[in-house]
Amino acid sequence: MALLEGKFAVITGAASKRGLGKATARLFAAHGATVAILDLDEAAAKAAAADLGPQHVGMACNVTDLEAARTVMAALIAKWGQIDILVNNAGITQPLKIMDIAPENYDAVLDVNLRGTLYCSQAVIPHMRERQQGKIVNMSSVSAQRGGGIFGGPHYSAAKAGVLGLTKAMARELAPVNVRVNAICPGFIATDITAGMLTPEKLVEIEAGIPMARAGTADDVAGCALFLASDLSSYVTGSEVDVNGGSLI
Ligand code: NAD
Repeated sequence: MALLEGKFAVITGAASKRGLGKATARLFAAHGATVAILDLDEAAAKAAAADLGPQHVGMACNVTDLEAARTVMAALIAKWGQIDILVNNAGITQPLKIMDIAPENYDAVLDVNLRGTLYCSQAVIPHMRERQQGKIVNMSSVSAQRGGGIFGGPHYSAAKAGVLGLTKAMARELAPVNVRVNAICPGFIATDITAGMLTPEKLVEIEAGIPMARAGTADDVAGCALFLASDLSSYVTGSEVDVNGGSLI
């Protein structure tokens, strides 16, 4: 059953090859959605979209730039006539301890993860409000809930906790106009970044501490994003959904 037939979805930070955004784009496309992949590098975004099929779109968009976000969303609305789904997935992390966080580290991590989520949402909310429908899915992290993770510093935890607050506030404000806003909190997910940063021994140690005894996959997260972006979750808003193999049990 195609869950997103006739829907138009925008996913930020989705050009990264083994990333969560790319897996989400792939699953949305498999369920009938037309997808726009936004990322910093235009060629990478276009290549990622081309992998999905000719109807999909890849565009450069730095999520920390409100005008850029507005311009891209306006271009997509002009092309498609509608945006049904926004996945705020773009994010960066830095493995720093609290006393090592310089002002520029704090700015960079809060800008992409938190400011970017606000700006891209602001760029589509007027359109969704007017249509009285829309779904926004924000990528938070288990780091927001645990005060730290394997790679993220305290500023990353703060940014992702901010994403949870923003999600709930947006969900409350937009519920009356039928726009649902939810967050996903992935746990430890195997991606290029995690593969490059861990020794095999460390990976075994981390997986042993997860009740399901394995790292998550990008597809595990994509499945949750599909649920939140589709009508299967029609009465779900303001939620934070854990995709962490039981890490918080
Ligand atoms: P990734 O690095 O593979 O993908 C992130 C993408 O965001 C990249 O393509 C990057 O170019 C893009 N990006 C960075 N800054 C940007 C900007 N200013 N504007 C637009 N795009 C920008 O990371 P991932 O592991 O796929 O993570 C995706 C999301 O999931 C992030 O928000 C991350 O914090 C979150 N997350 C990941 C994990 C994990 O274990 N991988 C766990 C919890 C949460």
